Amino acid sequence: MKPSLDAGFDLGGTRLKYGLIDREGRLVRKGQAPTPGSMKELLFALREIWGRLKDNPPGRVRSCGFGFAGFYSRRERKILHSPNYPSLDGYPLVAAFRKFIDVPFRIDNDANMAAYGEFRHGAGRGARSLVLLTVGTGIGSGIILDGKLWQGEGGYAGEIGHITVNPEGEPCNCGGRGCLETEASAPRIVKNYQDLTGRTDVTDSRDVHRLAKAGDRAAVESFRKCAYYLGIGLGIVINLLNPEKILIGGGVVSAGRFLLGPAVEEAQRRSHRVSFAGCRIERASLGNDAGLIGAAAWARLEAGGRG
Ligand SMILES: [Zn+2]
Repeated sequence: MKPSLDAGFDLGGTRLKYGLIDREGRLVRKGQAPTPGSMKELLFALREIWGRLKDNPPGRVRSCGFGFAGFYSRRERKILHSPNYPSLDGYPLVAAFRKFIDVPFRIDNDANMAAYGEFRHGAGRGARSLVLLTVGTGIGSGIILDGKLWQGEGGYAGEIGHITVNPEGEPCNCGGRGCLETEASAPRIVKNYQDLTGRTDVTDSRDVHRLAKAGDRAAVESFRKCAYYLGIGLGIVINLLNPEKILIGGGVVSAGRFLLGPAVEEAQRRSHRVSFAGCRIERASLGNDAGLIGAAAWARLEAGGRG
């Protein structure tokens, strides 16, 4: 008998990732393409990729999940606002997908899908509660409580990147100020370094990481400043939710010694001792595939399969 498979799509600001997973969450087929610029091009690309995924697959494709960057309304079944992909705003995705997706499908926020992917098939397997924080160009997050994705009343829960950690901090594109995302993401590490040294030739956090490893004190300090705010954010999460695990993913996670270590120390200072002691802070394990694996596993529920 052919195995049951589920398809997942993860639309980010620069890449559209997709794949087929089996019941164990293994990617049996995967690929990526540049993020199409317009809705028309996006729908064309999705239709074309869907056709290819279903062309002689190594099993029966039962469902399809989509993770999109933006505020997906559970009630209206639309993305109300996508800061990185404005043409999605208010677009009737469900009606458009029905024209070519011939299996049950589901749409949700990409960070929620990444958290669900880690929960079902990654470093969060077996946990009852977890929070995934993805630290990269921005900070995305998703929350699993009592073994379920916590979506919130409207579908907008998990915006930990936009909690205020520095009331006097930099303006954020969400309209707020001093959000975790503006104080602790990759662009901030670079900006810290530029501010400390006046060097505008350093424009990538990976370069700051290399400098830190080579003993550059300004580079180490650039990470330490971000770690301080990341630790405040982690402390808030621990005190609010008392999660079993916090998983950290994203490009910046490789800078463990300079970022995660000091951030965890700060979180310890800022959270309840018993709650901190019961929380394991670990690296996420699915990397860039978390979103599409999660979207596929999430869609599996729609098809009536085991979550
Ligand atoms: Zn914000």
